[in-house]
Amino acid sequence: ARASPPLAALSQVLRLERSRRTAVVFPLQKLERYLAPGTDTARFRLFQPGLAALQRAEALFRSDRGHPIDYVSSAVRMDHAPPPALPEVCFIGRSNVGKSSLIRALFSLAPEVEIRVSKTPGHTKKMNFFKVGKYFTLVDMPGYGYRAPQDFVEMVEAYLQERHNLKRTFLLVDGVVGLQKTDHIAVEMLEEFGIPYVMVLTKIDRASRGLLLKNVLEIQEFVKENTQGCFPQLFLVSSVEFSGVHLLRCFVAHVTGNLPTLEAH
Ligand code: GDP
Repeated sequence: ARASPPLAALSQVLRLERSRRTAVVFPLQKLERYLAPGTDTARFRLFQPGLAALQRAEALFRSDRGHPIDYVSSAVRMDHAPPPALPEVCFIGRSNVGKSSLIRALFSLAPEVEIRVSKTPGHTKKMNFFKVGKYFTLVDMPGYGYRAPQDFVEMVEAYLQERHNLKRTFLLVDGVVGLQKTDHIAVEMLEEFGIPYVMVLTKIDRASRGLLLKNVLEIQEFVKENTQGCFPQLFLVSSVEFSGVHLLRCFVAHVTGNLPTLEAH
């Protein structure tokens, strides 16, 4: 079993001094004060849970005997997918965007969960299903590339179109390089299917503050002008420093209906 990384638990984050703590829990808010005065920051704070909600979400992601968190199965076709019994979320993104690192970070309080990665070129790409107790399932979709094979495209499209228990799709975008051509293709697909999704900016520890701000503002503008189904607030994460991971756990708990009352801040 892996040991949990530092800051994987809120109890560790709460020991940090205030400004560090904000940076870890609400990385987007941390950027606010570097914006030009008068910039509309309403979109930075649409989802702003209090400590109780963050703790409730963390409890969901912490496994114990009465609350197992397990890898369930892999599927290459929809008829191999487990029955759609629970609310579900899925994570998609380009290969190398940091998807497996993020899923590992989300599940770091359930160290027995094995995050499988098949990166061998030519190896069949699969959808991996994880079950979080009796509360929800999380799907790790295969990473897409510029020249995704047709059978892969068909699998992802079929999943997104047919999966009736899918509550939200998390589209991962590299926070250092911003939206790429393949990300635009993913956005077009999600928009065409009319399903709700969220953009998650990864690897934010690698971007300078200036670059991160630029990417955040550009992507926010893109979302505002060009999308219908995308949640207006971006989620920023670093799987290395653990920033944004607690908030993302909380949002997953929220969209799967597992935060009955969301305390406003
Ligand atoms: P995947 O192909 O989307 O599953 O990407 P991985 O999770 O394997 O990450 C791709 C590369 O980016 C690896 O070298 C990771 O170590 C690195 N990486 C992933 N997440 C982060 C992050 O939050 N910060 C930094 N600095 N590197 C990251």
